[in-house]
Amino acid sequence: PLLAGALDVAFERVTFGYNEDEPVLRDLSFHLPSGKILGVLGRTGSGKTTLARLLLRFYEIQSGSICLNGVPLQKIGVDQVRQRIAMVTQDVQLFQGSVRDNLTFFKRHVSDEHIIAVLNELGLGRWLQALPDGLESELGGDGTGISAGEAQLLAFARVFLEHSDLVLLDEASSRLDPATEQVIERALERLLQGRTSIIIAHRLATVQRADYILILRDGQVLEFGPRAEL
Ligand code: ATP
Repeated sequence: PLLAGALDVAFERVTFGYNEDEPVLRDLSFHLPSGKILGVLGRTGSGKTTLARLLLRFYEIQSGSICLNGVPLQKIGVDQVRQRIAMVTQDVQLFQGSVRDNLTFFKRHVSDEHIIAVLNELGLGRWLQALPDGLESELGGDGTGISAGEAQLLAFARVFLEHSDLVLLDEASSRLDPATEQVIERALERLLQGRTSIIIAHRLATVQRADYILILRDGQVLEFGPRAEL
């Protein structure tokens, strides 16, 4: 396989625009060593989400290179890229189906014990116990009966069950209640362990946890470096 273990991420003079004449990211360079946490900051429209989408190969870059463990993204199959990289966004996509299928995307070989252990680990044990049919309980397509905090935790659970090595996390910008905030905080701690992560940070706690900080302004790097030095 082209990739193994935690992923090292390198952007080298990356330029990209949704339209050819108007770049959204310009000459963007940074290097994130494997296993480290990068907090990405910047105003709305500065290009944070675009950066994450490029890593998932939703679009091809116009110039420069993006490498994972030194291998250019174009040489790694889209399937393999998306298998290794998990994107967790604020609006978690849940579908009509069982809790189990929503978490495993229909993989039958994942044992109930494993799923339950992950849910417990993330603080969803009580939520699971309250469901009528455990893992076989149906979720509505719109995630009926699920709070924003629980939806976020379910998205974290998917990352564990998929064994993703690189996590792209777009944090919830809306305020959660303090109790939920704490549960998320603890779950996040577990989620980030041993994984490289790029977090579009909306919360101070996350920024403080980051090893590196990237500040974008109008699609360019305003600052990049170890957090302690900025
Ligand atoms: P926010 O904090 O609001 O999520 P962001 O920093 O993530 O913003 P991006 O979503 O990356 O910013 O957007 C960067 C620029 O690209 C913006 O000017 C936006 O309008 C533009 N843009 C984003 N998505 C598309 C798209 N699919 N097609 C065309 N332009 C887009």
